[in-house]
Amino acid sequence: MRLCKTIEEVRLLLKTIRSEGKSIGLVPTMGYLHQGHLSLVRQAKERCDVVVLSIFVNPTQFGPNEDYEAYPRDLDRDATLAADAGVNIIFAPTAQEMYTRFFSSYVNVTGVSESLCGKSRPGHFQGVATVVTKLLNIIQPDAAFFGQKDFQQVLVIKRMVEDLNMNTEIVDVPIIREPDGLALSSRNVYLSPGERKAGLVLFRSLNLAQELVANGEKDINRLRTAVLNNILEEPLANVDYVEILALPNLTKIEHLSGKVLLALAVRFGNTRLIDNAVLEA
Ligand code: AMP
Repeated sequence: MRLCKTIEEVRLLLKTIRSEGKSIGLVPTMGYLHQGHLSLVRQAKERCDVVVLSIFVNPTQFGPNEDYEAYPRDLDRDATLAADAGVNIIFAPTAQEMYTRFFSSYVNVTGVSESLCGKSRPGHFQGVATVVTKLLNIIQPDAAFFGQKDFQQVLVIKRMVEDLNMNTEIVDVPIIREPDGLALSSRNVYLSPGERKAGLVLFRSLNLAQELVANGEKDINRLRTAVLNNILEEPLANVDYVEILALPNLTKIEHLSGKVLLALAVRFGNTRLIDNAVLEA
């Protein structure tokens, strides 16, 4: 496995690989790897000859009062996990390498980025769209792999790639959970044991919604209220949003028809967890 810290270095390496006719898969991450990330790597390995894993805690997608500084980082640990999973190249640039002194170009995806996390984290998806554009331009992968854990992010990136004619296939991969249902996240390390236990209310609420739908509930407002009340029963839960929106454009709806996204963002102490499920009548 090769570790590249500069754009020049990774471009040079990929030029040779491309000239050998090999396909390239990109797995963008912010590091502090867990099984969710490694499941993306497995998918990438199945579909592509060479897998590039990027590790970059992207400052432009964090708000001023968010956890950019505190975000967990451990490149040595990540490199061991990545090598064991069969990653060929790690691209781990510094913030200065990605955002030079006079940086002033941003990618803004409207519509699908404006609800859910786009509403509660202003500027977040502009940062995501900008850094993913940069990564796609630097690596020029045949395919890039993203987790459904960040469902809205996948929708934003698919919209952007289609709108801007970017020449990469976007592949989305199911959520990986702990055995008790908590979705894996690098931020889970912040949780106290009590908060960790309280966090399970998210998975329970998603299951409750699935059950209600299976029993014929089609009224979006009633579904949303049932999920919200379930979460509010957990004293450590501080709800950011509970929303049910139609796919693929995250439009508002009143009755369940086709596929809809149930998306949750809830704080436990200082840690904001997100989770989601696709519901279908
Ligand atoms: P992050 O490092 O949190 O920015 O995540 C990097 C990629 O891994 C994103 O595409 C995430 O959606 C994906 N990811 C994170 N957690 C999970 C999970 N539990 N299951 C599947 N994919 C995940």
